[in-house]
Order: sequence, then structure tokens, then C-alpha cells
Amino acid sequence: MLKRSAGRRTAPLVASGARSTRLSANESPFGPLPSVLEAIQSAASEINRYPDDEHTALVAALAARFGVPQAHVAVGSGSAGVLQMVLEALGEPGAEVVYAWRSFGAYPLLVGLSGATAVEVPLGDDKHDLIAMANAITDKTRAVIICNPNNPTGTTVSRAELERFLNEVPTDCLVILDEAYREYVQDEDFPDGLGLCRGRPNVAVLRTFSKAYGMAGLRVGFLVGDPDMVAAVRAARLPFSVTNIAQAAAVASLAAEDELLSRVESTVAERDRVRSALLAQGWSVPPSGGNFLWLPLGEATASYVAACQAAGVHVRAFGSDGIRVSIGLPEENDAFLDLAAAAAEQKMRSAR
Ligand SMILES: *Cc1c(COP(=O)(O)O)cnc(C)c1O
Repeated sequence: MLKRSAGRRTAPLVASGARSTRLSANESPFGPLPSVLEAIQSAASEINRYPDDEHTALVAALAARFGVPQAHVAVGSGSAGVLQMVLEALGEPGAEVVYAWRSFGAYPLLVGLSGATAVEVPLGDDKHDLIAMANAITDKTRAVIICNPNNPTGTTVSRAELERFLNEVPTDCLVILDEAYREYVQDEDFPDGLGLCRGRPNVAVLRTFSKAYGMAGLRVGFLVGDPDMVAAVRAARLPFSVTNIAQAAAVASLAAEDELLSRVESTVAERDRVRSALLAQGWSVPPSGGNFLWLPLGEATASYVAACQAAGVHVRAFGSDGIRVSIGLPEENDAFLDLAAAAAEQKMRSAR
């Protein structure tokens, strides 16, 4: 018998077509560094062998980088893959998983696939409503996911807000801090997720190589948390699902972190430049901790997206809530800003 089908909600990332600017998937606009490409090429000569299913070298490199014992680290096929392992490990019929909505589209998909019940708590002012989320926890809640910064709105939860929330969560309920965009955050008040894990066994941090490290195409993510929980999560992995090429590239990326983070710096500078320009054009855009910006356009979303699409600039639409635009290279961002300026002008004219 088939389980209740979860179904995918998302459309293709980009329409097929000729020249296009892809600002729709929060990817890094930068190609692989030479040292990472070299690691990939060298690993490619061994694809006749199964990969290391214990991810030994990568777990060691991550543990060293983040100052945690190796038993606190689980690796998977993208952070979506790791989240699926977590849900597999703790899901049981009747279990509830609480997360904010709107947030990352993989949450409803993966919770649905696991057979657990999703409990979606609406954002307030584009931000996590942690009071409502704490109130949504019942004795059936096995996990809460906090997307920080939140995709697609870019908003962040502060250290004080998060600590207050964690103090209210029962210790048998896992809190997963999805920090996919951590490297792009510059806010001093941003919580130290890894530090919070240390004192609290029911807190885990989820990270990815897909965004700041520019490896979305290779699928590597990881979880840091309590060793008992990590052991259960590791046990839920699909055998050999992180390829030898992906593992080698992730190790090489950690070794090239300085170079990669200087790219992050330039993306952050572009993010701030694009947001200032949008504000000056009259748009409302919440401050973002990620490599993307959120424009809450409401009913105007569809026509705005159509105009972008027609100009070959692909952004991501979310129903009639708004659009998310990823930060690309300066000339790509300028192409988006030109479209935004034209739309702002048109809006002013029709309001007159
Ligand atoms: C992009 C993103 C991820 C990364 O997913 P991968 O499976 O690692 O590519 C995770 N969480 C959020 C909120 C994201 O936006």
C-alpha cells in the first residue's frame, strides 16, 4: 500500500530557453575553485569503487573545523538529505513536526514523506513567531525546525529570542536550526547555533555545502549535535548516498575556506547594494541574512514575475505572497534592478 502522498509543490527552477539569468535558486554565482576542481578530478578516477560510507575524511575535517568530536557530526546528501535522515530517525506515526510557514519548501515535502504530521505556524511580519511556535508544541511533537535565516524571507531570529524559545521547549523535542545561509549573516545578534548545541542535547545545527561553498550540484550537507542523536541519524542514511567525488570536494572546500569566504563577502556587499537600490525605488524589502532578498509583492507577484521571465531574469515566485531574488554577479543584479525600476515606475504611473 502507498503511504499518504506528500507530493512536490515546486515548479522547475528555470524555464528552458536561450540566454537567462538564474536568480531563482539561491546558488552561488561562482564556479568551483581550481583546488576543488582538482580534488573532483582526482576522485573521479575512482568511481569504480563505492564511496566511504562512514565519510571518514569529511567527518574528521568538519569536526576539526568546528571544534567538535567526530561523533557529533553526521553527513548526508545535501542538508535536505540529512533532514530526511533526521525525520526517518525520529518520525513515527502520529509524530508532529513544527516549522514556520512560509519557509523552505523541502520541509512540507520531507515531513510528508516521513509519514509525520506537519504543523505549520504562520510567520508574523515575515519573521518566525517563536511564541506561537512554542505554543504549537504538544506531547506528540518530535521536532521543531527553525530556518535561520529564513528562506524565502531572509529574516533572522536573534540570540535572545532563540534562547528564550529553547528554554520553553521540552527536552525530548529536537530543535533543528537550519543554518543553510549562516556564512552570509553579519548581524552581531545572530545566535551561535553550535555553541547552543553544546549545552543542550536536544538542539542540532544543520549546514550545507550548497550555498556559500558553491557546491549545490554535488549534494553535501551535515548535522552537528548530540552524539546519541547523531548515531541514530547516521543509522538512517541511504547507503553510499554521498559520492566519493562529493566527499573529496567538500574536504577540499573546507581547506579553501578563506578563498570561498571572500566570495561570500562580495555577495554580502552586493546583497546590501541591491537592497538599498530597491528601497530607493520604493519597494519594501526586509533586511536579509541570506544570499537573497524578499519582495512581498502580494497580488502583483504574478505580473512582476512574468515581466522578469520575459526579460530572461529568473526569480522565484511564491503564490501571491511575493518573490525571492537570489544575489548573483553584479551585472546580473543590475539586470534585475533595471526590471525593478521599470516596474516601480509603472506602479507610480498607474497610481497617479
Ligand atoms: C538551500 C537550502 C538548504 C540546502 O539544501 P541542500 O539540500 O543542502 O542543497 C537547506 N535549507 C534551506 C533553508 C535552504 O534554503
